[in-house]
Amino acid sequence: MAKERLHLVEVSVRDGLQNEPEILPTHTKLSMIDLALEAGFKRMEAGSFVNPARVPAMADSAEVFANLKGRRDGVFIALALNLRGLDRAIEAGALEVNYVFCCSDGFSIRNNGVSVAESLKAWPEAVAKAKGANVRLSATLSTAFGCPFDGEVAVSQVAAIVGTVAAESPFEIALADTIGVAAPNDVKERFAVAMAIAPAVQWRAHFHNTRNTGLANAVAAVEQGVRVLDGSLAGIGGCPFAPGAAGNVPSEDLIYMFERMGFDTGVDLDAAIAAARFIGEALGKRTPGMVSRAGGFPKRAVAGGVP
Ligand code: ZN
Repeated sequence: MAKERLHLVEVSVRDGLQNEPEILPTHTKLSMIDLALEAGFKRMEAGSFVNPARVPAMADSAEVFANLKGRRDGVFIALALNLRGLDRAIEAGALEVNYVFCCSDGFSIRNNGVSVAESLKAWPEAVAKAKGANVRLSATLSTAFGCPFDGEVAVSQVAAIVGTVAAESPFEIALADTIGVAAPNDVKERFAVAMAIAPAVQWRAHFHNTRNTGLANAVAAVEQGVRVLDGSLAGIGGCPFAPGAAGNVPSEDLIYMFERMGFDTGVDLDAAIAAARFIGEALGKRTPGMVSRAGGFPKRAVAGGVP
């Protein structure tokens, strides 16, 4: 029987690097993208069209997209927080834009500059703009499991936002645990509610491993029926609200686990490990991903090994 496909979206170049103190040059980002493509990743976040003064690591996003045009075979995603960001992403040649809404006002005001309700008002226009430019539009609902400023985020609040976003029929919606607070029961509950509201949409899950629940949450999402997961090679990304914390759930750890569980991720584990190690070397630090250190399943017993 053919294995079931599990789609991974590689976010190290955007979500990973944007939360790292070290700013990598454009050519290193392009090398990261090349290594990820060689490993088998098809979709990846390549940049973000936000205020460069606030997110200096993404200031070269237009240059990254210019270098990707026609040269590489993949779907490269640009992030936008508002209509201006969407315009810039379209102008830069992005063929897919991930538009971010927050599920809590505390985070929305600080991250998007407006309240949740205010940012949602722009959504129909964003969808029309993307359609007009023939750009695929997905949405990510950040702080869907908790907020660094407001604390608990009610399921009913997430449900209301899902309803508004889904009404414009984007091709995909993600629930994101921006600060890594979710436990598997939260994941199951919130995806069950979201999927009931918008059963026709493609669902994606975005986890951070801040409190070591990332892999457990990924399994919970997949058990709930989600078949698209974000991950970041080497697990880079940290958390600006938790100094020293682990980053996004590591892509190579996801690949190892889900391939062992019988899924086909379409990504070669050894090549993903090599890409993760490249990122660690580029950042000059020990990265949080574990499979890139341990390696994959042992090929055979070591002769004369420990009894
Ligand atoms: Zn994130």
